[in-house]
Amino acid sequence: MQTVLFHSTIFGPIHSRRLGTSLGVNLSPADGKVCTFDCLYCEAGFNAQGPGRAGLPPREEVRRLLREKLAQMRRDGESLDVITFSGNGEPTVHPEFEGIIEDTIAARDEFFPGVKISVLSNSTQLHRPDVCRALERVDNNILKLDSAVESTMQALDRPTSPAFSIAKVLPQLERFAGTGIVQTMLTRGSHHGVPVDNTTDEEISALIEAYRRIRPREIMIYTIDRRTPEQSLERIPVEELRAAAERITAETGIPVQVSA
Ligand code: SF4
Repeated sequence: MQTVLFHSTIFGPIHSRRLGTSLGVNLSPADGKVCTFDCLYCEAGFNAQGPGRAGLPPREEVRRLLREKLAQMRRDGESLDVITFSGNGEPTVHPEFEGIIEDTIAARDEFFPGVKISVLSNSTQLHRPDVCRALERVDNNILKLDSAVESTMQALDRPTSPAFSIAKVLPQLERFAGTGIVQTMLTRGSHHGVPVDNTTDEEISALIEAYRRIRPREIMIYTIDRRTPEQSLERIPVEELRAAAERITAETGIPVQVSA
């Protein structure tokens, strides 16, 4: 079974296709996955692997490890573009997420002022005021919307809560109009014989309607980069991503970044 990618709380720096030289912060356990989605394409594997035994790293430990790493990088004269919250699961499910963002801003200002802070989130915790407050403070608040068609979102992202739906998340995403970034993973394939495809004209039309409503400052579209737990999923050719991006910008006026 495909399992987690990251075996520590702080990882990298790595070169990110979208963000540059990025120091990663993994708020999930170092030996398991904790996520409120179970995406067919998740590079950290399916949730079925379990949460492991290490538990979520406490706020104080994240603070200490991050400060140690930033201090060492500064001593060594290393360059850095961004501190990115991603890792083996959804960072905003951490109960101390808001405090961790506060600590990270303080550490960034002390060691690497000017470096951006990015959070890659699946948008499932936007009903929590503490999470929204924290996301409003970061430079790149990158929120997932893979499909605006309920059945496709359910098939591709497989939210763990039956309460999560497109109808609920869209108004929550609107809170970040003009500041948030929406990211959409485009792919197609099947799972247990059931086709999944968020690249059709109808899917892109539905996304355009949703983007118009949310009005993010930017949209990122990307496709599969590494091995996925559902191996039938296709990496979409860059020409197709670019064509989708052009259509989205033409119909929404919002800039679209393509990563392939
Ligand atoms: S939201 Fe991210 S971490 Fe969670 S299952 Fe999907 S790709 Fe994996």
